[in-house]
Amino acid sequence: MSDLFADAVETLAKAKKTVALTGAGISVESGIPPFRGKGGLWEKLDPMKYAHIDAFLEDPETVWNVLIKEMKMVLDKARPNTAHIGLADLERMGILQTVITQNVDGLHQRAGNSDVIEFHGSFAWQRCQTCDWTIETSRVDLSEIPPRCRCGGILRPDCIFFGEMIPHDALLRSQQISAACDVMLVVGTSATVQPAASMPFIARDNGAVVIEINPEPTSLTRRISNLPLLGAAGTILPRLVKAMRRHQNA
Ligand code: NAD
Ligand code: ZN
Repeated sequence: MSDLFADAVETLAKAKKTVALTGAGISVESGIPPFRGKGGLWEKLDPMKYAHIDAFLEDPETVWNVLIKEMKMVLDKARPNTAHIGLADLERMGILQTVITQNVDGLHQRAGNSDVIEFHGSFAWQRCQTCDWTIETSRVDLSEIPPRCRCGGILRPDCIFFGEMIPHDALLRSQQISAACDVMLVVGTSATVQPAASMPFIARDNGAVVIEINPEPTSLTRRISNLPLLGAAGTILPRLVKAMRRHQNA
């Protein structure tokens, strides 16, 4: 066992309030490609062309055809992986209280975490641009693209595009929880999308220990992370759960 891993176990065992901040990387092992990094969606698409609100407003048909339909197909098939299950186990063991996720895939809730802040909204629902009516994504009729609401308005995913504001309650609560935690577990995020990327800074500034799980170094690794654990989330998190169980039973 590496020193960093052993320190992470000791730190988690002592903590009273632990929060996890997760990004696209935690869902890679569920078959959902991340945006950046190896195999990322941005290798194929220009984000500003397809994932910016201005692009959607200008040409919703193209954004639906190129990005949203593809996302729906990928997310329909995805199941929680051992990393999501590891975080749910940590909650059941009384170690983890809240997950702040940048993901829109709903996999933390499906794995069993009960307090999940969806920082960028959720892909599980579509919302009418005109009247705000919502419908489950699984029930949307895709025979016409873009799909429309009964009022004639265009449906869009209930998550944010680049250029849109973070839902106010999600932002406020995330900032409060980040400032009040003893430990922040940062899992599978390149920490480049603001303001989500500022949460580890808020935690550190308020005295928390930052444990980072990622196979690659990120902008946080040397500046902010006290305990960087290099590796895939689907491997490291179950290992951490096992070690915490042993620690609790000792
Ligand atoms: P990102 O795409 O910028 O970065 C992904 C990070 O995950 C990288 O640092 C990479 O090294 C790491 N990673 C890759 N495989 C991993 C693994 N097996 N275990 C742990 N880490 C791994 O992701 P981001 O920082 O979350 O920012 C992208 C934005 O895109 C987010 O805001 C999110 O809203 C959105 N997004 C969501 C999903 C999803 O819902 N699953 C997927 C793609 C993008
Ligand atoms: Zn409508």
